[in-house]
Amino acid sequence: MELASVAAIKAILYPDGFRFSRAMGQNFLISPAVPRRIASSLPEGEGYGVLEIGPGLGALTEALSERAGKVVAVELDQRLLPHLTSYFAGKNVEIVEGDVLKIDLPALVKEKMPGMPCAACANLPYYITTPAVSALLEAKCFDSITLMVQKEVARRICSAPGTPEYSAFTAYVAYHAEAKTLFPVPAGCFYPAPKVDSAVIRLETRREPPVKPRDEALFFRLIRASFENRRKTLSNSVAGVLGGKEKAAKALAAAGIDPQRRGETLSLREFALLSDAAGEEID
Ligand code: SAM
Repeated sequence: MELASVAAIKAILYPDGFRFSRAMGQNFLISPAVPRRIASSLPEGEGYGVLEIGPGLGALTEALSERAGKVVAVELDQRLLPHLTSYFAGKNVEIVEGDVLKIDLPALVKEKMPGMPCAACANLPYYITTPAVSALLEAKCFDSITLMVQKEVARRICSAPGTPEYSAFTAYVAYHAEAKTLFPVPAGCFYPAPKVDSAVIRLETRREPPVKPRDEALFFRLIRASFENRRKTLSNSVAGVLGGKEKAAKALAAAGIDPQRRGETLSLREFALLSDAAGEEID
């Protein structure tokens, strides 16, 4: 049976009285072309492993299993486990029960897919988008991360400095990975249909960050402060982090950045310059 279908949902889940949980972000794919297209964008090969978040009924899991050597799929909803474990028994898929935000991802990958280059892939439950992206990036064990996210979130993650969508989170992602949108996915491809359209994005993780601020924590504090109030000029936004307007002005001057600019126009390189100059001011 085609798992990406309303017929599969009805045949497999409804007899046990299953009801979709909005709290768990359950919108299952019912358009078979979508999981196939996602899977075919990933590297192919016996030696390749994939970590999936939230297999649901297994539509994407199955497509991934035909592409990769092994798939490890983490599912929070216990009601889905009997179907998942029996459907994928004897295949190159291992179902792990748990909350992806509480699991030690590097340890899981090392245990289940030792020595294999790995990708992460998910039709993400939207309520965990930001923490899940952070956890996948911080795990530092995935060559690439391919995710279905809300269209607006895709735009935000893939935006460039100076655009209205560019945010502190964009800068954070760009520090760890190169982000691009692969293709849009209309709301009608899911059941139940969400209120908004989606898009699949690819984060190619970086081996080395594109800039190397001396103090990474200060670098990210400055980024967050710069985006807190978009109407403020840079010198006002970062004054709090840098211990006053005078110190902020000095650091901006030392970094060669116009204090009248808005934080959201700065590139990662400029944030790194500012952070290094500020570090010297603080010392
Ligand atoms: N992959 C399936 C598909 O594409 O049809 C289902 C995707 S659905 C948007 C999200 C899935 O993630 C659901 O199966 C849900 O139960 C699961 N989920 C929700 N929160 C989770 C968490 N914290 N950890 C792991 N899985 C989670």
